[in-house]
Amino acid sequence: MTIPDDHPRASSLKTREKIIEGMHSKIVAEAGLIAHGRGEAYDYLLGEETPSFALIQEKVAVALLLLAEKPIISINGNVAVLCPEEMILLSKIIGAPLEVNLFYNRTEREKIVAKKLLDSGAELVLGVDAEHHTSIPELTHSRRVVDKRGIYSADVVFVPLEDGDRTTALRKMGKKVITVDLNPLSRTSLYSNITIVNNVIRAIPEMIEIAKELKEYKQAELEKIINAFDNNESLKSTLTFISERLEKLAKVELNKLKNIE
Ligand code: ATP
Repeated sequence: MTIPDDHPRASSLKTREKIIEGMHSKIVAEAGLIAHGRGEAYDYLLGEETPSFALIQEKVAVALLLLAEKPIISINGNVAVLCPEEMILLSKIIGAPLEVNLFYNRTEREKIVAKKLLDSGAELVLGVDAEHHTSIPELTHSRRVVDKRGIYSADVVFVPLEDGDRTTALRKMGKKVITVDLNPLSRTSLYSNITIVNNVIRAIPEMIEIAKELKEYKQAELEKIINAFDNNESLKSTLTFISERLEKLAKVELNKLKNIE
């Protein structure tokens, strides 16, 4: 579908088209469309722009990824169509490989998702070769399958748009988990070590810029950034931000959202 540039929600509609096209080419699972719609709804609550607390969450996440001995970035279908080039660049800057990790129809889709990443410029994509597969304990569905060289042996796992079951399983394995999730109340958000409440489309380019800067920092400086962070407190400020924003809109400013007045 062609979306006119002057449509008031052109950018959001173009993103939806990416997800729909991704589903037709089997990169995105059908359930990925539902997850995207859920994300869009939460993004309205943030005002569809990066709040200052998200920049702090992103900074702490980058610091942890830079300090990790064996970081890994997990890629699902939605992420592969929404920001493949940006994920590849972030992976290069922080030195964390990419691993395809899918919930639905893994065997059917994993090579298609990996190809999308390779076509977008990735040099190496883990998670695709059966000879390197192993299982995460405690999970029974197809997403227990991970790469021995990647998620299984990583100390820090960056899993944007993850589901709660896997997040808790990774935590039980002793891994530090970083996520991007527009829903601050999802189980993934609650159980991760660092939750970035932002749209992945905005978060990853911002993390790239932060990573370029933090790469020059000494280990002690990165540790200081991480030690000053508490995910529960961070989620509380996120909820406070959303509730204050809604209250303000409810009281006086709703008309400002209408372009026609
Ligand atoms: P949980 O199992 O963690 O309680 P869930 O069942 O909603 O939550 P998923 O279906 O895997 O888990 O949801 C993916 C999450 O990704 C949702 O919380 C959704 O709001 C979020 N999400 C979707 N699109 C985006 C996006 N573009 N950027 C950030 N988050 C997104």
